[in-house]
Amino acid sequence: MTKFVFVTGGVTSSLGKGITASSLGAILAARGLSVASLKMDPYLNVDPGTMSPYQHGEVFVTEDGGESDLDLGHYERFIDRNLTRGSNLTTGQIYNAVIAKERRGDYLGATVQVIPHVTNEIKSRIHRVAREAQADIVLVEVGGTVGDIESLPYLEAIRQFRNDVGRQNVLYVHLTLLPRVATGELKTKPTQHSVKELRSIGIQPDILVARADEAVDDELREKIALFCDVKVENVIPEPNAWSIYGVPTMLEDVGLGRIVVKELGLEAKEPDLAAWRTLEDRIRNARIPLEIGLVGKYVMLSDAYLSVAESVKHAAWAHGCEPRIRWIDSERLERGGDVEPLVGLDGIVVPGGFGYRGVEGKVQAARYGREHLVPTLGLCMGLQCMVIELARTALGNEDANSTEFDAFTPHPVIDLLPEQRDVTEKGGTMRLGSYPCVLQEGTLAHKAYGQPIVLERHRHRFEFNNAYRELLATHGMRFSGLSPDGRLVEIVELRDHPFYLGTQYHPEFKSRPHRPHPLFAAFIDAALAHARANGRADAQAPVREAVR
Ligand code: GLN
Repeated sequence: MTKFVFVTGGVTSSLGKGITASSLGAILAARGLSVASLKMDPYLNVDPGTMSPYQHGEVFVTEDGGESDLDLGHYERFIDRNLTRGSNLTTGQIYNAVIAKERRGDYLGATVQVIPHVTNEIKSRIHRVAREAQADIVLVEVGGTVGDIESLPYLEAIRQFRNDVGRQNVLYVHLTLLPRVATGELKTKPTQHSVKELRSIGIQPDILVARADEAVDDELREKIALFCDVKVENVIPEPNAWSIYGVPTMLEDVGLGRIVVKELGLEAKEPDLAAWRTLEDRIRNARIPLEIGLVGKYVMLSDAYLSVAESVKHAAWAHGCEPRIRWIDSERLERGGDVEPLVGLDGIVVPGGFGYRGVEGKVQAARYGREHLVPTLGLCMGLQCMVIELARTALGNEDANSTEFDAFTPHPVIDLLPEQRDVTEKGGTMRLGSYPCVLQEGTLAHKAYGQPIVLERHRHRFEFNNAYRELLATHGMRFSGLSPDGRLVEIVELRDHPFYLGTQYHPEFKSRPHRPHPLFAAFIDAALAHARANGRADAQAPVREAVR
């Protein structure tokens, strides 16, 4: 029988519910249990694909092409298990399904209501994840904060769920905040209120995870236990961690894994967290500072490039380097061509994006990286900017463009494929998910991967225009990765440059903390060589700060 752990959040959003749930998944997986996960988002969008990254952070793409919440990235990175589009559920999807059934006449004359029709639909989606994943445990995170109007149907569904599948098979974990007030004390009142709110819906939490800015003493735990009717040992303190990757062992050390296994009556082996401890040592001992520029238009919200930043970190740590990400607003590079923000970097990453705003700045960054021989990695739109930049240089004018940004450019070096032209809807019309890419021997890409064919995740509409292959080849561009039929350019790189490589896909979705992505690893390798050549690679005492 599959067991279910529901994670809810109280008091405020942004407490790190996704990190906490993923870390719980990691320590359960470390016991040899198979863990599947589901994130339920209470907004009305069908998926976050059409939402601004400023609203929602990055869109995480799954192997099967699901455009999903960024928490799925945490789950994949922490539990090291690929998810599917079914692992992210939104209210938009639920209502779509319920209304479609109503129109088909599936409800046979009934008045269609939130209870039971919407709640049944939610429960059936939870069951579907359990069925498809065949996991020992399904970890379900309810987005939003208890008390929000939008989350009510989800909370009602998970309340019913315990009766449906048996009390012994379900555990409710509630994450709250202990705020610090002017006197310096941590306060439990918001937690008490949040639990009261949850109980008014009929859910009594089994475990409370209390976020705080520092250690929580036993007296406070006892107080929370008393007021919230939870066993003292089940009140788990979660102070700010020095790194998100320190959370799994921290939660393990306060007994969370053992408690969950015991409460659910599971048989599990002793946890093996050696890989996590090795990773922590690696992060703590990273001594060589590397300054990596990330050039984007959403840099005010670093979550918009979450997987890219994490991938840079994974690769840097594996090289003994302390990554320092310089967030560069691409619009700033645009105005007057000021390249000052790019000076002194050890590496440049030009990530993905949509729409014209900020593109010229990304093209400038690509030009700077090419001309100054700075290791440069272009991701999706980043590749497109590299192509635009080289084409402009090769043609001797600034006309070359993508038809996404200039529909009438005389040199559409990036364009739609003919079969894509008549599509009018924006949601779900992209090339999404995992596709094969064949690597050309003797290239940087082939060397980095060390294998002839790779599968990588995509999320884009526009493609390299093959009419320009020859022109760009004469200017040093190599097409080092192609679709198996040779039609689509997947990777470009430059001869006579230490590392200048762009991918039409998003390698950042497959990097793992314990296993950096090969292209990010090769990029960091080149960045380190660049830093050394410029006398910037002196080891320093590691400085670690709290990052949550
Ligand atoms: N806007 C570009 C396209 O649709 C790039 C997309 C991306 O960077 N994810 O092809």
